[in-house]
Amino acid sequence: MKKHNFYAGPSILPEITKEKTAEAIMNFADTGLSVMEVSHRSKEFVAVMDEAQALVKELLKVPDGYSVLFIQGGASLQFLMAPFNLMNKKAAYLNTGAWSKKAIKEAKFFGEVVEVASSADANYNYIPKNYHVPADASYLHITTNNTIYGTQLSTMPEVDIPLIGDMSSDIFSRPVDVAKFDVIYAGAQKNLGPAGTTLIIVKNDALNKLERPIPTLLNYQTHIDKGSMFNTPATLPVFASLQTLRWLKENGGIDAMEKTNIEKAGILYDELDRNKLFTSTVPNQDDRSKMNVTFVMTPDYAELEKDFLDFATAKGMVGIKGHRSVGGFRASIYNAMPIASIKALIAVMQEFEKRD
Ligand SMILES: *Cc1c(COP(=O)(O)O)cnc(C)c1O
Repeated sequence: MKKHNFYAGPSILPEITKEKTAEAIMNFADTGLSVMEVSHRSKEFVAVMDEAQALVKELLKVPDGYSVLFIQGGASLQFLMAPFNLMNKKAAYLNTGAWSKKAIKEAKFFGEVVEVASSADANYNYIPKNYHVPADASYLHITTNNTIYGTQLSTMPEVDIPLIGDMSSDIFSRPVDVAKFDVIYAGAQKNLGPAGTTLIIVKNDALNKLERPIPTLLNYQTHIDKGSMFNTPATLPVFASLQTLRWLKENGGIDAMEKTNIEKAGILYDELDRNKLFTSTVPNQDDRSKMNVTFVMTPDYAELEKDFLDFATAKGMVGIKGHRSVGGFRASIYNAMPIASIKALIAVMQEFEKRD
């Protein structure tokens, strides 16, 4: 049976990413060796790293003066690395969910954290708007897409201080004005590649302004100076990520992705608004994520939750169980998810509706 992969992360990758990576595991760039067993300093692997960094710059139209890094530690390490490198005495954070909260916790090790707004009062089912951001904060940190709660910032905040963005689950899904950011970071395993590497885009001029000493490995400058080769990068995940970046380019780049993502999310939300059994957990349409669609049974049908999960699982739907903090269901529909899989899920929802 065809499996439709709705996992939130690690998650679906383009077929071509898997095929090319499988080939390179056996014979990488005609070396006769596996990509896993060649030096990261070999000319073949250096070419992989260089192309991956260049494609990130090209696809996201990264302005001059920024560096692209692939380092380890996940997005979670960036929760502390960003403030370590960029927070002077104070930083502003928008609290839109579990990942924001974890970022806030780490930032508190480095100074005063001003939580400018929070949607915790409604279990994070909306994006706060119209909040005050202190002008003397080093930056405003945002989580652009809330993987767990199914919300997404539809526009970036207009503020006079730099932004730092955790884009782990929506990077490459839509255009972004990189010039507004000092740092953008994203764990690879949602929209780019396998777990093990983290993409970071950092503004060179924003660094080296603090008195605080920074340990070598946690200093962005170390990785910039060594082209992400200060220590051994995650060679296989970077290779696989490059295959996804090539796929993105060949499929029309970020504008084309955004167009498809609007269509893909649109048909699923339309079904949630129509089908009497299900409802989106995010009432405000503008705040609904185009990457992670969270939904529950409507109150009259709440007792059917387990039935639907079993029904959908039997029809090949994988990974749709909601995160425990929201309950219900979550369909993660990243760039690599074909619209056919979303149509298959919709068909299952309609079949279930007709069943009783
Ligand atoms: C998955 C995720 C993280 C955590 O990523 P790790 O690579 O596991 O550290 C952080 N932020 C967001 C928005 C995520 O979706």
